[in-house]
Amino acid sequence: MLLLMIEKEMPIDCVLYADTTMEFPEMEAHIAKLDEHLYRERGIHITTLSHPHGFEWLMLDVPMQQERAIARRIAKGQPLTGYGWPAMRIRWCTGQLKTHLMTKEVNRLKKEKNALHHIGIAADEAHRCKDDPQNRYPLVEWGITEAQALQICYNRGFDFGGLYKIYRRASCWCCPLQRIDELRKLRTHHPELWARLREMDNRARAMYGPGPLGQFKKDWSVERLEERFAREEKEGCA
Ligand code: SF4
Repeated sequence: MLLLMIEKEMPIDCVLYADTTMEFPEMEAHIAKLDEHLYRERGIHITTLSHPHGFEWLMLDVPMQQERAIARRIAKGQPLTGYGWPAMRIRWCTGQLKTHLMTKEVNRLKKEKNALHHIGIAADEAHRCKDDPQNRYPLVEWGITEAQALQICYNRGFDFGGLYKIYRRASCWCCPLQRIDELRKLRTHHPELWARLREMDNRARAMYGPGPLGQFKKDWSVERLEERFAREEKEGCA
């Protein structure tokens, strides 16, 4: 969306990016490359929004504030810090690392500058659009699907370091909501991140035990996934 907005000479005052602190290195490099392009074309830099302490601190170290949460932890004999691994119904990470930061800044700009907010939702995910007179959805307006948007990026030399050739989604590499197959690929293509994930899961299980807070996925710890993937590899069926 941004590349096309630049090409179509649409006005751009500010580009916001929420950094979850758990982005793939290729995504960080992509953002830096995009920032250079934006600066060359429009003389502005991407504004990065990020939580002051980041994902791992929130997961393991943030002190509990609410009395009920503290009482629950004490009753279970669990530490009084950290939200634990996110899960489908407890996606604290999306709120704390993306939406809260983004909504606060967007609302400020809408109010103080009467800004229009252009959002890169694609034509095939238009159900996600919100009815707000200050929102614009250029890709939906232009009928550009997610696959077409990716191709537009590729055609202009933005290939995300090959991430989308490997993974279906390229959000946080440590996301427990991703499919097992994506995790298998993480182990193969990003062994250093896989090693960090094993460490994070070991730390979480040591702190909270094998329940929902402490175990990576409902039925899988990262260690058990490691055993499974290693076995598959040995048997030649990975
Ligand atoms: S990608 Fe996963 S871990 Fe990252 S913010 Fe979204 S739900 Fe949370």
